[in-house]
Amino acid sequence: MSQIEVSRMKPPLVPLATLIGRELRSEKVEKPFVKYGQAALAKKGEDYFLIKPDCQRIPGNPSTSFSVFAIFDGHNGISAAIFAKENLLANVLSAIPQGSSREEWLQALPRALVAGFVKTDIEFQQKGETSGTTVTFVVIDGWTVTVASVGDSRCILDSQGGEVSLLTVDHRLDDNAEERERVTASGGEVGRLNVFGGNEVGPLRCWPGGLCLSRSIGDTDVGEFIVPIPHVKQVKLSSAGGRLIIASDGIWDALSSDMAAKSCRGLPAELAAKLVVKEALRSRGLKDDTTCLVVDIIPSDHPVLPPTTPRKKQNVLTSLLFGKKTQNSVNKAKLSAVGVVEELFEEGSAMLAERLGKDFPLDTNSGIFRCAICQVDQPPADGLSVNSGPFFSPASKPWEGPFLCTTCRKKKDAMEGKGPSRPTVIS
Ligand SMILES: [Zn+2]
Repeated sequence: MSQIEVSRMKPPLVPLATLIGRELRSEKVEKPFVKYGQAALAKKGEDYFLIKPDCQRIPGNPSTSFSVFAIFDGHNGISAAIFAKENLLANVLSAIPQGSSREEWLQALPRALVAGFVKTDIEFQQKGETSGTTVTFVVIDGWTVTVASVGDSRCILDSQGGEVSLLTVDHRLDDNAEERERVTASGGEVGRLNVFGGNEVGPLRCWPGGLCLSRSIGDTDVGEFIVPIPHVKQVKLSSAGGRLIIASDGIWDALSSDMAAKSCRGLPAELAAKLVVKEALRSRGLKDDTTCLVVDIIPSDHPVLPPTTPRKKQNVLTSLLFGKKTQNSVNKAKLSAVGVVEELFEEGSAMLAERLGKDFPLDTNSGIFRCAICQVDQPPADGLSVNSGPFFSPASKPWEGPFLCTTCRKKKDAMEGKGPSRPTVIS
């Protein structure tokens, strides 16, 4: 948060704090309370989820705690969803330099998420199985929320103040022209199913494989142009907090972000998750696996007040929390201050060179290179043969990223349509 915003926000927080409670007034709220609920209805049984409210940046130190919530919507089988659920978190954490301060840790997280997603995909590929999965992976540390996603399981943020925003991007070929171009450029074909004497039906799919998504973990058999590189967004909530709704497309095919947020406002997370699933079912029936996680990041331990108007005393508070219009212009100013969500980071490129940065993680003491994706150490002699970056071989096409081992370098080339079966096109 910039200095200007802080100084502008501080004065209105004092009267507001009297309404919301002791925690806000004292401004000692270093960590919010995280309350969550989950609900699901299975049709195919391919949705999986992960709830880990008790992770620690420094093992054994509770003051470094953070929480992780994720949804994995599998297709063509369940093995990719299960594999990602069991391995992704560890792979992400292994890509964050040890001994990082909290701030460094949060800054390193978007890049570590990219490395962890790609590493998990490579490991799953090596098992030789054919299923795939969407992943929407949410890390909450204090008021900072980081979301990484491939596929079409969305995460929305309902910030206190009533503004609903999308923290993910749908990697659906039908909705995403940029992804259609990328898939085509890296060797896939995009089109609809041809049936009934040449008539095209259904959503846009990529061929071979016929998948409607352009990014996922798994889908080895579909093609390397289906990449596991996540869209990553990092935001910082105001100390008024907010609610996350993370759900598979069974919810989002039935409900808009606004509808989902409104259907459960004011209810505790556990009940809210059930209500969102019920609402989706009511409007569309059970057509797909439907999984919903609701996560409240709130300044006080008390459950959120319902958006009703039971007693006069609660009216001002309720309208502030739930964004109802008030007559008083002073209150409106407070409302906008409460609703501030600061965007810290957003990047969705499918090019690893743009996602991994340009640092060269060479351990100067040992002279050993560490692969930026799988974190395997290699002596520089091996690195020389695989990295055609300017550092090693000025004549060839520069790879402006950090060191990659042979396996990860191959994966990178394959994702960009430069696999061994295709001639390398250098522009
Ligand atoms: Zn590697």
